[in-house]
Amino acid sequence: MSIVVTEPVPRPGILDIAAYVPGKEHAPGVARVFKLSANETPLGASPKAIEAFKAAASHLEIYPDGLATELREAIGAVHGLNTANILCGNGSDELLGLLCHVYLGVGDEAVITEHGFLVYKIQIMGAGAKPVVAKEKDATVDVDAILAAVTEKTKLVFIANPGNPTGTYVPVSEIRRLHAGLPKNVILVLDAAYAEYVRRNDYEAGLELVATSRNVVMTRTFSKAYGLAALRIGWMYAPTAIIDAMNRVRGPFNMNAPAIAAGASAVRDQAFIEKAVEHNTLWLDKLTHAFEAIGLRVTPSVTNFLLIHFPDVDGKRAEEADAFLTSRGYILRAVKGYGFPNALRMTVGTEEANRGVIETLGEFMGRTA
Ligand SMILES: *Cc1c(COP(=O)(O)O)cnc(C)c1O
Repeated sequence: MSIVVTEPVPRPGILDIAAYVPGKEHAPGVARVFKLSANETPLGASPKAIEAFKAAASHLEIYPDGLATELREAIGAVHGLNTANILCGNGSDELLGLLCHVYLGVGDEAVITEHGFLVYKIQIMGAGAKPVVAKEKDATVDVDAILAAVTEKTKLVFIANPGNPTGTYVPVSEIRRLHAGLPKNVILVLDAAYAEYVRRNDYEAGLELVATSRNVVMTRTFSKAYGLAALRIGWMYAPTAIIDAMNRVRGPFNMNAPAIAAGASAVRDQAFIEKAVEHNTLWLDKLTHAFEAIGLRVTPSVTNFLLIHFPDVDGKRAEEADAFLTSRGYILRAVKGYGFPNALRMTVGTEEANRGVIETLGEFMGRTA
């Protein structure tokens, strides 16, 4: 007996995936909008990167360098890394997807954490594998919970350090303990999308651990501190065996030429990044204190965003705050899908935007900071 299938059917599991929903961008009817929902920098990109992007516009008929050599060399020079251990991607999202594509299949498992970045789960399921969720503690990755979630089916462990949307981080000693407890065939993926912003002595993005192990990779992005989200530039620092495997399946021209040129100029302009981080550090502190002063709880953040928790009181919940802020043109990120039904994530903005949110939330809470 044969079943007649009358339409194309995706592989099993694909239709179980909930598609990624980006933060909202619009506030209907409001003239001036401050988008603080996607962790973009308020300071734009380095003028040198913009110049390089414009110059690349005069040769759009030429295929890009499939090895993104200029970009990999610039990253290698700035971070002191061998270019053979650097792989660039169309956003770090592409690299996270490629890791799943190459290392996971049906029957495999990958460990993610309770409030982890949703892209991991989507890509794990896209590869036909099973995401296994490890609980976090105080909105912070819990190494013991991750180790307890590892089975002989585990192939990948994903952690964002610092985390999104939590803004918290795990010290390098804990990352080392996690790595020491993992079987040698399990890849530890350290997603360090916000590493540029962290100012803590006990934090490391993962460079040393990658250099001294065969099963650790670190991913980075130009979408946040570098202000190049529109161009989609990510990179991975990894052992050559892992890069070799991923190079076999990635698109041969996955990085476009303007992105390669702009990215290389951006990473060489570290003075620009220092200024961006300085602005962020200042406002992270000011915003945290201002929100606490009006009776809101803020998860301590080392990133360019804050997780703001609202009272469990009618009229004062996150959903209501979200509507109130949006009506004034301040767009924050609802984080229900990340396990925080009564919180909003706010990206650090310009001084004007930050002051506006402080004032608007003060009004919402009936208190002034
Ligand atoms: C923003 C972000 C990224 C970056 O993604 P791109 O594809 O490089 O824009 C990766 N991981 C986390 C946790 C993020 O928040």
